Amino acid sequence: MAYKITDACVSCGACASECPVDAISQGDSIFVVDADTCIDCGNCANVCPVGAPIAE
Ligand code: SF4
Ligand code: SF4
Repeated sequence: MAYKITDACVSCGACASECPVDAISQGDSIFVVDADTCIDCGNCANVCPVGAPIAE
């Protein structure tokens, strides 16, 4: 299990600083989650203003 950031992302960066394992980075157009690093904590979904991160 891992979280995935959907196209709703507006690249605000709020999630990246809240990720305890630094799994989130800025991609070409939106922020992206490294699924192998994500520990499924849900912090990104909790802080995202547009609900872009979803649990897969
Ligand atoms: Fe990081 Fe937690 Fe979001 Fe996974 S669910 S990307 S560990 S903040
Ligand atoms: Fe994108 Fe939401 Fe992360 Fe902001 S908090 S960079 S909108 S996923």
